[in-house]
Amino acid sequence: MSDLKIGVDVPWITSWSEEPQTGVSRCPSVDGQLAISQDIKPGVGEPVFTRAHLFRQRRSVGEMRCPMCGEPTQEDDRWSRTARPTTAGALRAKGLGPALPPAMPDSQPLLDCGAIAPMHRACVDLGPAERLLPDDKTGRELRRFPKAWIIMPMWVEGRPPQPQGKSVAIVSFLQLIGVEGA
Ligand SMILES: [Zn+2]
Repeated sequence: MSDLKIGVDVPWITSWSEEPQTGVSRCPSVDGQLAISQDIKPGVGEPVFTRAHLFRQRRSVGEMRCPMCGEPTQEDDRWSRTARPTTAGALRAKGLGPALPPAMPDSQPLLDCGAIAPMHRACVDLGPAERLLPDDKTGRELRRFPKAWIIMPMWVEGRPPQPQGKSVAIVSFLQLIGVEGA
């Protein structure tokens, strides 16, 4: 076991070196859909800061758990430094329209948080939280996460071993989109 403390020295969603991907299984984090699975041994080996653990990442976004400490966040204490302002129209232009409500106007302001759910304010200031930010973090301000959001599963295509087998859609991680002014 590592001496590093999860939630203090290492974010909860960070992968550890003894947590390899193990293939595909029906995952409770996405209501039993097929998803990429990964061994669950947090705290064993070394943290791999560049890689989120896919199961914990999906739980973090799906259950609104703080990626730093792993505990649920409440509506009045959700903060994001990865949020990038965008609009429904811009996401539709990128092909992400099917995940948006059809009635949502193109002008609807949205906050694309990527794969990182909002954190508790107290967790934002912990040093390791910085490691959850993308490399292009310059200029990103801390934003309050809105009251409503949309979860977009990111799909990968899986091919069964049989030559004629149909390909299947497999969830990798969940992307989080905040809905402003809802
Ligand atoms: Zn937290």
